[in-house]
Amino acid sequence: HGEASEVAVETPNGTVYFGQHHPVAVVAGPCSVENEAMIVETARRVQAAGATFLRGGAYKPRTSPYAFQGHGESALELLAAAREASGLGIITEVMDAADLDKIVEVADVVQVGARNMQNFSLLKKVGAQPKPVLLKRGMSATIEEWLMAAEYILAAGNPNVILCERGIRTFDRQYARNTLDLAVIPVLRSLTHLPIMIDPSHGTGKAEYVPAMSLAALAAGTDSLMIEVHPNPAKALSDGPQSLTPERFDSLMQELSVIGKAV
Ligand code: PEP
Ligand code: MN
Repeated sequence: HGEASEVAVETPNGTVYFGQHHPVAVVAGPCSVENEAMIVETARRVQAAGATFLRGGAYKPRTSPYAFQGHGESALELLAAAREASGLGIITEVMDAADLDKIVEVADVVQVGARNMQNFSLLKKVGAQPKPVLLKRGMSATIEEWLMAAEYILAAGNPNVILCERGIRTFDRQYARNTLDLAVIPVLRSLTHLPIMIDPSHGTGKAEYVPAMSLAALAAGTDSLMIEVHPNPAKALSDGPQSLTPERFDSLMQELSVIGKAV
């Protein structure tokens, strides 16, 4: 490996850096883009709290085909409106290569979700487009498999890959949705130069556990965080139980700023 690499992204509010030698970048926002008012309000509020990127799904990988699937293309327009209103960079997920071109028009960083970590044809395609890629760890992927998936993107010509730990499947799902593997932070540091992101929201599945795991991730040296925030978690169309309110997110940002690398 050698030198740590950084991913620099131009946003309306300035360049955001994901990497070891920069302040921790915080990506926040709802699981799904539900409507214009909620995405714009969330964007403004997480920006005011110190986030530099907005997340929000337009195309959602749901376990049940009867669950809300995301608003698709119209949600991309709402993300563009939220970018305009807040100045935040945008991260959104691509599930199908057929949607990639229109996603790339709006997204500053393209997300490949856990369920597609080894969708090799999709990895080759995101590797052949210019926007940085956030590669989430598959829910049962070894670190070796994850790094090889990243290698597909790099080999296709895109050097800007961020690795996101989002919890893995272990034997106990009674108390937490997934097991957040924070040990990957030092492990990845020893194996790769790529920037690291931790997602304690999908990692635990419960809002009440998110602050502790965010603080722990920062203490362990993560380069960035992804946190789900919803203006009314009880009414969220997806992942409400793990979403922070904007108020709780704001207080978490203050708690995080006490630990080392300021956000
Ligand atoms: C998400 O970020 O909303 C998401 C679906 O995450 P994951 O792919 O990690 O489950
Ligand atoms: Mn989600």
